[in-house]
Amino acid sequence: DAKANATGTMRYFVQRMGEQVRRRLVLERDLRDALELNQLSLHYQPKVDLATWRIIGFEALLRWQHPQHGNIPPSEFITVAEECGLILSMGAWALQHACAEAATWPEHLQVAVNISPLQVMTEDLPATVEGALRLSGLAPHRLELEITESVFINETRGTVNRLHALRKLGIQIALDDFGTGYSSLAYLRRFPFDTLKIDRAFVRELLISRDARAIVRNILALAKSLRMATVAEGVEEPAQVAVLSAEGCDIVQGYFVARPLPAHEVLPFVRQFRERSRPHMPTGFHLG
Ligand code: C2E
Ligand code: MG
Ligand code: MG
Ligand code: MG
Repeated sequence: DAKANATGTMRYFVQRMGEQVRRRLVLERDLRDALELNQLSLHYQPKVDLATWRIIGFEALLRWQHPQHGNIPPSEFITVAEECGLILSMGAWALQHACAEAATWPEHLQVAVNISPLQVMTEDLPATVEGALRLSGLAPHRLELEITESVFINETRGTVNRLHALRKLGIQIALDDFGTGYSSLAYLRRFPFDTLKIDRAFVRELLISRDARAIVRNILALAKSLRMATVAEGVEEPAQVAVLSAEGCDIVQGYFVARPLPAHEVLPFVRQFRERSRPHMPTGFHLG
């Protein structure tokens, strides 16, 4: 009957909730050892300049290979790492490894590292970045930090000062996932970012929604007038490349170019990409 049914449903949800809580506890416990046990690695996703169709650099993305649960996506473990403070040591590790890796690449290639708001809130971030540059010997202009606008939610005077201190090291700073936050436009006045990354959500809609295309066009115009370079994230199809190119976007990144690659595949990829010609773009592309 209905009552038994409801009880059954309830039991199911409690069980599912229990599973989630358990998984979360296991992740938190195991994440503490992941660094020492060498379970973390960085994959690198290329960024391509639309004007020249050349690779200009790679974004470093954390990967966690769990001995029992396999590959755990950053969407799951970054939040856990932020909630228990582990993101600080993981973030420092990522910075050091990404800089050391990039120092072995040809000099025209940059590396971008994602930085958690929690790292930006700590006083020693500029020292950590400086240390990573010094240890690796990477030229500062080849390093870009990607931060999200959530950095500004609990903004203090320290936050913006720290971003300026980082900029003084000679590195670049990008605003990641632009357009998904609370009040994106206000943040553009707080700090002069070098680069603006348009979130995948807009790119996904680009071919099916006139509104998304209008938003992208205006984000690009805004970025240009503020002298920021523009990157479109999550580009998966040639027609998206064509539209972004027509709208004046500078750089594309996404599965259309490549998925994030393990470190040892970076240089071979760069070599074979040079031989690969620019893909044919549909011309005169219009929304139907
Ligand atoms: P993000 O920085 O915006 O990175 C882009 C995400 O989109 C990556 O997911 C990437 O693999 C994925 N992606 C790239 N191209 C495509 C595409 O064409 N289609 C689709 N569907 N997805 C695409 P990933 O690697 O799972 O990382 C997710 C998020 O986790 C990142 O978003 C970033 O916020 C965070 N993250 C990753 N590594 C780090 C890190 O070292 N430190 C910090 N603080 N956060 C990190
Ligand atoms: Mg990013
Ligand atoms: Mg992003
Ligand atoms: Mg994103």
